[in-house]
Amino acid sequence: MDSVYVHIPFCLAKKCLYCDFVSMPYSPPVAQRYLGALSREIALLKEAGDFLAGPQDKLAVKSLFIGGGTPTVLETRQLEELLDLLGKNFVFQQGSGVGAGAGAEVTIEVNPATIDTEKSSTLLKGGVNRISIGVQSFSGPELKTLGRLHTSRDALDAVKTVKDAGFENISIDLIYGIPGQRVEDWRRTLETALALGVRHVSAYELTLEEHTPLSGLVEKGALRMPEEDEVVRLYFLAEEMLEAAGFVHYEVSNYALAGRESLHNLNYWRRGEYLGLGAAAHSFKRASQRFFSTEGAPRNGKRWKNADGIFRYMDLLEKDVLPAEEIFLLTPEEEKREFVFLGLRTREGISVSDGRDLFGPDMEKEAGLLVKEGLLEMSRGFIRASRAGFPVLDAIILRLLAGLGL
Ligand code: SF4
Repeated sequence: MDSVYVHIPFCLAKKCLYCDFVSMPYSPPVAQRYLGALSREIALLKEAGDFLAGPQDKLAVKSLFIGGGTPTVLETRQLEELLDLLGKNFVFQQGSGVGAGAGAEVTIEVNPATIDTEKSSTLLKGGVNRISIGVQSFSGPELKTLGRLHTSRDALDAVKTVKDAGFENISIDLIYGIPGQRVEDWRRTLETALALGVRHVSAYELTLEEHTPLSGLVEKGALRMPEEDEVVRLYFLAEEMLEAAGFVHYEVSNYALAGRESLHNLNYWRRGEYLGLGAAAHSFKRASQRFFSTEGAPRNGKRWKNADGIFRYMDLLEKDVLPAEEIFLLTPEEEKREFVFLGLRTREGISVSDGRDLFGPDMEKEAGLLVKEGLLEMSRGFIRASRAGFPVLDAIILRLLAGLGL
C-alpha cells in the first residue's frame, strides 16, 4: 500500500456555495464519535488482514493525506487523538517517537479560519509535514460569491501562522472561473499567492456541481459563469505567472517548485494503491489472485468506496461492520481507460512502452493523430498533452479512448 487518505467530514457552520463534498457542520460530540469509528475501521481492517498483518503491525506508507471537509476544524485535543491513532498504525514520520521511521509526505487540509499557533504545533509534533490551505481567492467579493467563511486577511494570516510554527512545505488551493472574476482580479490573486513564498499551488477551474446553491443561482440567472474562452485566458495566465516564478506545471491543475510535487496525488494519477479511511473515502488495490469476478474471469484491481453518510459510516463500525459499500472489480477495459485518463493528467504523461503492452501498436497510431494536431506530444518514451492540449484535456482523452475502441 503506497498511500492512506483519511476523510474528516466536518466543516464550519455553513457549507461553501459550490461544495458537494461529504461534510456537515462541526459538532464536538459527533466528531468524537467519528474518531472512535475511524479507530474501529483500522482495527477491523487489521483483523481482516486486508492491509495490516495483525494488531501490532504498522503499515509503512509513502504518503498520508488528511482531507475533508476541514480537518483543522477539530479541537486541538481531537487533532492530537487523530494523529496519535494514525501514528500507532502507520509508519510515516522521521525520527523517533510515534510513527517513527519512513519520512513520508504527510499532508493536512487547512481552512484559513480554523488554524492557530496551538493547532499548528500539534500538527507538526504529530508528524504532519505538508500543509494545504484552501485559500481559493484573495478577493473579498469572490470569496463572498463562493460562500467561503473566511476573508483574504484570514488566508494571509493562516500562511504566516503555519510558517511561524515551522512548516515550510505549504500548498495553497486557488479557484478561477468564478462568476464576475476579471483577468486583473485573477492576476492580483496570483501575485498575492506568489508573494507568500509557498511551494505548491493548485489552481482549479470552478465547476458547477448539481444541486449546489451556486448552481441554483446560475440557473436563476443571478450569477453568470464565464465563457470558455474567458476561462482559457485565466488558465494560461496562471500557467504564465507560475512558470515565470519557477513553478513546474506538473499536472493539469497543479504547480510545484522542484521537488515539491504532491506525492500523494501523483500516486493517484500513477495508479498506485491507496487505502481510504472515513466516510465516503475511496480505496484502490491492484490485481491479485484474490480478485475474481463472479464468472471466474480475472480482474484488474479493485476500487471501493466507504458509506457516504457520516452517521451510516459510524453506525456500521459501531456494529463491527466494515463500511465499504460500493465495490468495483475492474475489467481489463476499465484498467486501460484509467491508464489513459489518469496518466494524461500529468505533465509526465503515459509511458509508450506501457501503452504498447496494453494496446499493442494502436496507442502510438491513435496518439500520433493527436500529435499531428498539436494536442499531444511524444518524446523520451512518453506521450503527454501539449501546452495547447492541457486546457482541453477532457476532449483529448475522449477522442483517444474512442480511437482505441474504449
Ligand atoms: S471548506 Fe471545503 S468541504 Fe467544507 S464546505 Fe467549503 S468546500 Fe466544502
